[in-house]
Amino acid sequence: MPRQDLVSPEPVAHLSQHRLLPLLLQHARQLGKGGVAEVRFGCNVTDVKLLRDGTRSGTAGWQQQQQHTDTSTHPVCVTLTASSTCDDSNSSSSSSSNSSNSSSMQGKKQQQQQQLRCAYLVAADGANSTVRSLMGVQLEGESALQHLVSVHFTWPELGAALLNSGRAAMLYFIFNANLVGVVVGHDLAAGEFVAQVPFFPPLQRLEDFTPERCAALVTAAAGLTSDGGTTTSSSSSSSRFGGSGPQLRSVRSWVMGAEIAERYDCLDGRVLLAGDAAHRRAAYAHTPAPIYHV
Ligand SMILES: Cc1cc2nc3c(=O)[nH]c(=O)nc-3n(C[C@H](O)[C@H](O)[C@H](O)COP(=O)(O)OP(=O)(O)OC[C@H]3O[C@@H](n4cnc5c(N)ncnc54)[C@H](O)[C@@H]3O)c2cc1C
Repeated sequence: MPRQDLVSPEPVAHLSQHRLLPLLLQHARQLGKGGVAEVRFGCNVTDVKLLRDGTRSGTAGWQQQQQHTDTSTHPVCVTLTASSTCDDSNSSSSSSSNSSNSSSMQGKKQQQQQQLRCAYLVAADGANSTVRSLMGVQLEGESALQHLVSVHFTWPELGAALLNSGRAAMLYFIFNANLVGVVVGHDLAAGEFVAQVPFFPPLQRLEDFTPERCAALVTAAAGLTSDGGTTTSSSSSSSRFGGSGPQLRSVRSWVMGAEIAERYDCLDGRVLLAGDAAHRRAAYAHTPAPIYHV
């Protein structure tokens, strides 16, 4: 994609999130080798407190650690909770001087808790931010401008047809009798696409978007793309490109909103909201887990 120096010294790149995130993780782990970053999975931030001089946490292990930490420089106390042991096998830096552990049985699952001390906490925990809720920060704006279903599918023959016909693009806006939506061409060479299809509750239900219906919708989108405005049936569209038609990978729903946190900093400026935690600017995941994987 072309470079636009006025906007950024970096060229525009189209990289789908499931490819970007492994790169970011790899980079963070590289930083971890220098002791700069530590990556953990399976842990949830469940509490955040600001400790004043003389404040003590309720965890026994924590009190033993108290003498090693300075409340004036590390006043933020973050509680991490994991159902199983936190996966810190990839970390190279230990925060043992600023942490303590405890565990309790809840139901049949063992809850592991750990408290970390830090100077600042940057809360980048997404659109449904726990930290934002814990801080009591409200969102301002429109929470639901549009509900959408996101259909991830692969169709190598469609990608090849678009490339061969000189119609390679990142976004295809579809407007026909069978489908109104946008198809993102994530990787035409590999035939990887995501169709964004608006839906309208309560007139439409999420459950109505069965795999069969979603396959028919993306086939209708391809019909428009292939013949410049004429919608085609599922079978004719499939045979036009050859192959077996679209292969569905997953279907999710999401809500387009435009909300912003009433403030970004909390607890004397020690806790900072970032990313979607601070602004649900364009989109946020409505169902964190897919409706179904295919
Ligand atoms: C369907 C869809 C399409 C989009 N398309 C685009 C696009 O084309 N271009 C674009 O720029 N943006 C797009 N976005 C928006 C983009 O995905 C987000 O803006 C971006 O991911 C926000 O990054 P983030 O790091 O703030 O939050 P997230 O990516 O949501 O990351 C938050 C992380 O915090 C973790 N977490 C949550 N709660 C806790 C907790 N209590 N403790 C510990 N960890 C926690 C989560 O597991 C997650 O790993 C799209 C979003 C959606 C839903």
